[in-house]
Amino acid sequence: MVYNKAYESNDEEVSTPVTYNNIDEGGYEVGYLGSAIRAKMKREGKRFWAGDNISEYIKSGDKETLIDDATEAFEAVLDALLIDRETDPNSKGTARRLAKMYFNEVMAGRYDPAPDATAFPNDSADRYEGMLVVRSELRSMCSHHHQPVSGVAYIGIIAANKLIGLSKYTRIAHWCARRGTLQEELCNDIAREIGRVTGATDLGVYMQMTHGCCENRGIMAHSSLTQTTVLKGSFKTDAGTKKEFFDNIKLQQEFAPR
Ligand SMILES: [Zn+2]
Repeated sequence: MVYNKAYESNDEEVSTPVTYNNIDEGGYEVGYLGSAIRAKMKREGKRFWAGDNISEYIKSGDKETLIDDATEAFEAVLDALLIDRETDPNSKGTARRLAKMYFNEVMAGRYDPAPDATAFPNDSADRYEGMLVVRSELRSMCSHHHQPVSGVAYIGIIAANKLIGLSKYTRIAHWCARRGTLQEELCNDIAREIGRVTGATDLGVYMQMTHGCCENRGIMAHSSLTQTTVLKGSFKTDAGTKKEFFDNIKLQQEFAPR
């Protein structure tokens, strides 16, 4: 990085510009916890895309250090954008706010382990054999532009031998959504995780989401409503089950339009 002394202020308070002397062969800055974690994931062949959960690599207490490191990095981004984070009162704490928001909120589903979803047996003589459809409001973020993606997912299953609490469907969907994703990928992730915790093989996920990256920039579309569907087992192969799922979604929408 070229840094011209002529632009340096006399003010002692001016923070040190980021230098890029300590780059390892992988292109990562040495001395940061994130560099060590990335190196370990690469060594072990662990994929760490924006939509991947990497919680098994984050030890307790690591998040605080990662937030400190990301704060420094966001300071460098604000500096690069020529935003005065020293005297603009609204920009002073922005770097830390962004770092905390990414780790604790908008991308929390990458760093936190799966929500606890205790399963209850559903194997007695009068077991529930019908379809269950849960509506989950979701907030996510596209991995291309880090713009908000929001909407609703309808999760349908034919119960297997265990059932989870109703709120757990939404908790699991939130955990999948709180990452950088594509809607198609998110729809798959939710279906896979719901199948994993419930043991259900007959299931469907239908999602309606609007995309900030189409509404706030680029095409500036007034509505970017995008629908995706993942169907498994009888939801895919049995026309009656599929129809019941979509009829239930329509009933849900009449009751609680998005
Ligand atoms: Zn996008």
